[in-house]
Amino acid sequence: MICDQFIDRTTGRADTYYRGPDVVHISAADPYCPELRALAGRIAGQQSLRWRPAGTVVVVQGPRFSTRAESRWYSRMGWDIVGMTQYPEVILARELEMCYLNLCLVTDYDAGLEGAPEVGAVQAHDVMRVLAENIVRVRDLLAATIPMIPAEPSCNCQRSLEAAGYKKKKGRDWGLGLQGRGSGITISAALLRTGEEAVTALSRLTIEARSGVSYSPQK
Ligand SMILES: [Zn+2]
Repeated sequence: MICDQFIDRTTGRADTYYRGPDVVHISAADPYCPELRALAGRIAGQQSLRWRPAGTVVVVQGPRFSTRAESRWYSRMGWDIVGMTQYPEVILARELEMCYLNLCLVTDYDAGLEGAPEVGAVQAHDVMRVLAENIVRVRDLLAATIPMIPAEPSCNCQRSLEAAGYKKKKGRDWGLGLQGRGSGITISAALLRTGEEAVTALSRLTIEARSGVSYSPQK
């Protein structure tokens, strides 16, 4: 799922570079880069992946998984994905005027499915297993997407500080976030800088799950 919105249910995470006395009130109405979302969606379609072009991720504090009541609430609110990362990375990237893309890998049904007792609550090993099955697809999607990022953006991500009354900086930075659903399996976000270095950066990109699973794409 290529998310377009998030709900922040975290606490105590440092979520701004501007702690005062100066503060910056950036817009978070559309927190993810529309250009990178469209590009990743186009590539996902070409690669015949099962994917969705939009959705809302609710970011929970963790590290525990959801109760059934919490999971029911998230679902009834219309939120699509439960994760433990993504916030504040996405907002920190916005403060740095970086284009930011989030790819959510669905790994489980959180606390289970009501009316389907055969679908139980998630366990950490379930998440790791599904993640391992999908990591090649993620690699291929990233390998095809990153070189296609235009050097000149058509979005407004690079003007977020300007819009908030701060000075514009030069150049294009971009980043991406990856996460599994549900459990403490969240993959750390990888922030890459500058389109010119994108392909080189991909060869160095390492996606590490907090549980210790790591993956390094080939050059
Ligand atoms: Zn952008």
